[in-house]
Amino acid sequence: MKDCLFCKIVAGELPSQTVYDSEDIMVFKDIHPQAPVHLLVIPKKHIANLDEMKDEDQALVARMMGLIRDLARREGLDKTGYRVVTNHGPDSGQEVDHLHFHLLGKRKLGPIG
Ligand code: AMP
Ligand code: ZN
Repeated sequence: MKDCLFCKIVAGELPSQTVYDSEDIMVFKDIHPQAPVHLLVIPKKHIANLDEMKDEDQALVARMMGLIRDLARREGLDKTGYRVVTNHGPDSGQEVDHLHFHLLGKRKLGPIG
Protein backbone atom coordinates (compact mmCIF):
# COMPACT_ATOMS: atom_id res chain seq x y z
CA MET A 1 0.00 0.00 0.00
CA LYS A 2 1.27 3.44 -0.95
CA ASP A 3 2.55 5.54 1.96
CA CYS A 4 2.66 2.62 4.37
CA LEU A 5 6.02 2.50 6.14
CA PHE A 6 6.09 -1.26 6.56
CA CYS A 7 4.91 -1.91 2.98
CA LYS A 8 7.91 0.19 1.92
CA ILE A 9 10.19 -2.00 4.04
CA VAL A 10 8.64 -5.12 2.45
CA ALA A 11 9.23 -3.60 -1.01
CA GLY A 12 12.87 -2.82 -0.13
CA GLU A 13 12.24 0.92 -0.53
CA LEU A 14 13.27 1.55 3.09
CA PRO A 15 16.11 -0.21 4.93
CA SER A 16 15.53 -2.60 7.80
CA GLN A 17 17.54 -4.93 9.97
CA THR A 18 15.80 -8.04 8.74
CA VAL A 19 16.13 -11.23 10.76
CA TYR A 20 13.59 -13.37 8.87
CA ASP A 21 12.15 -13.16 5.38
CA SER A 22 9.75 -15.63 3.77
CA GLU A 23 7.12 -15.53 1.04
CA ASP A 24 4.51 -13.90 3.26
CA ILE A 25 6.12 -12.95 6.59
CA MET A 26 8.98 -10.61 7.47
CA VAL A 27 10.71 -9.92 10.79
CA PHE A 28 13.01 -7.00 11.50
CA LYS A 29 14.45 -5.15 14.48
CA ASP A 30 12.46 -2.25 15.89
CA ILE A 31 14.23 1.03 15.15
CA HIS A 32 13.60 2.25 18.74
CA PRO A 33 14.06 -0.92 20.78
CA GLN A 34 12.29 -1.03 24.13
CA ALA A 35 14.20 -4.12 25.23
CA PRO A 36 17.44 -5.87 24.23
CA VAL A 37 15.32 -8.07 21.97
CA HIS A 38 12.63 -6.07 20.19
CA LEU A 39 11.49 -7.60 16.92
CA LEU A 40 8.55 -6.69 14.70
CA VAL A 41 6.79 -9.59 12.98
CA ILE A 42 4.66 -8.50 10.03
CA PRO A 43 2.65 -10.06 7.21
CA LYS A 44 4.01 -8.96 3.83
CA LYS A 45 0.50 -8.20 2.62
CA HIS A 46 -1.03 -5.02 3.96
CA ILE A 47 -3.40 -5.67 6.86
CA ALA A 48 -3.90 -2.47 8.86
CA ASN A 49 -4.39 -4.09 12.26
CA LEU A 50 -5.97 -7.07 13.97
CA ASP A 51 -9.44 -5.62 13.53
CA GLU A 52 -8.94 -5.57 9.76
CA MET A 53 -7.69 -9.14 9.66
CA LYS A 54 -10.06 -11.16 7.47
CA ASP A 55 -11.04 -14.70 8.37
CA GLU A 56 -9.03 -15.92 5.38
CA ASP A 57 -5.90 -14.37 6.98
CA GLN A 58 -6.22 -16.35 10.20
CA ALA A 59 -3.94 -19.18 9.05
CA LEU A 60 -1.26 -16.63 8.14
CA VAL A 61 -1.52 -14.96 11.55
CA ALA A 62 -1.39 -18.35 13.27
CA ARG A 63 1.86 -19.07 11.40
CA MET A 64 3.18 -15.72 12.59
CA MET A 65 2.55 -16.93 16.15
CA GLY A 66 4.46 -20.15 15.47
CA LEU A 67 7.32 -18.10 14.07
CA ILE A 68 7.32 -15.89 17.18
CA ARG A 69 7.63 -19.05 19.30
CA ASP A 70 10.59 -20.19 17.19
CA LEU A 71 12.31 -16.78 17.27
CA ALA A 72 11.84 -16.56 21.03
CA ARG A 73 13.46 -19.98 21.42
CA ARG A 74 16.29 -18.96 19.10
CA GLU A 75 16.96 -15.92 21.34
CA GLY A 76 16.76 -18.06 24.49
CA LEU A 77 13.68 -16.16 25.64
CA ASP A 78 11.72 -19.35 26.27
CA LYS A 79 13.85 -19.71 29.41
CA THR A 80 13.63 -16.14 30.69
CA GLY A 81 10.25 -15.01 29.39
CA TYR A 82 9.00 -12.58 26.80
CA ARG A 83 6.05 -10.46 25.74
CA VAL A 84 4.10 -10.33 22.46
CA VAL A 85 2.10 -7.16 21.79
CA THR A 86 -0.03 -5.77 19.00
CA ASN A 87 -1.69 -2.37 19.01
CA HIS A 88 -4.94 -1.33 17.41
CA GLY A 89 -6.21 2.21 17.20
CA PRO A 90 -5.80 5.47 19.10
CA ASP A 91 -6.10 4.24 22.70
CA SER A 92 -3.23 1.81 22.10
CA GLY A 93 -1.00 4.46 20.55
CA GLN A 94 -0.64 2.46 17.33
CA GLU A 95 1.87 4.37 15.19
CA VAL A 96 2.14 2.22 12.09
CA ASP A 97 -1.08 1.08 10.44
CA HIS A 98 0.28 -2.23 9.18
CA LEU A 99 -0.33 -5.24 11.42
CA HIS A 100 2.72 -6.13 13.48
CA PHE A 101 3.49 -8.12 16.57
CA HIS A 102 6.19 -6.81 18.88
CA LEU A 103 8.36 -9.52 20.44
CA LEU A 104 10.09 -8.12 23.52
CA GLY A 105 12.54 -9.79 25.85
CA LYS A 106 15.97 -10.14 27.47
CA ARG A 107 15.07 -7.82 30.31
CA LYS A 108 12.56 -7.77 33.16
CA LEU A 109 9.46 -6.24 31.60
CA GLY A 110 7.22 -3.91 33.61
CA PRO A 111 3.48 -4.11 34.00
CA ILE A 112 1.32 -3.80 30.90
CA GLY A 113 -0.63 -0.58 30.43
P1 AMP B 1 3.11 0.60 17.09
O1 AMP B 1 3.08 1.75 18.06
O2 AMP B 1 2.60 -0.68 17.67
O3 AMP B 1 2.42 0.97 15.79
O4 AMP B 1 4.63 0.31 16.79
C1 AMP B 1 5.33 0.79 15.69
C2 AMP B 1 6.76 0.45 15.92
O5 AMP B 1 7.46 0.60 14.70
C3 AMP B 1 7.46 1.34 16.95
O6 AMP B 1 7.97 0.53 18.02
C4 AMP B 1 8.58 2.01 16.14
O7 AMP B 1 9.77 2.16 16.88
C5 AMP B 1 8.76 1.04 15.00
N1 AMP B 1 9.29 1.63 13.76
C6 AMP B 1 8.92 2.79 13.16
N2 AMP B 1 9.61 2.97 12.03
C7 AMP B 1 10.44 1.89 11.89
C8 AMP B 1 11.41 1.49 10.93
N3 AMP B 1 11.68 2.23 9.84
N4 AMP B 1 12.08 0.33 11.13
C9 AMP B 1 11.83 -0.41 12.21
N5 AMP B 1 10.91 -0.11 13.16
C10 AMP B 1 10.24 1.04 13.01
ZN1 ZN C 1 1.40 -1.78 4.79
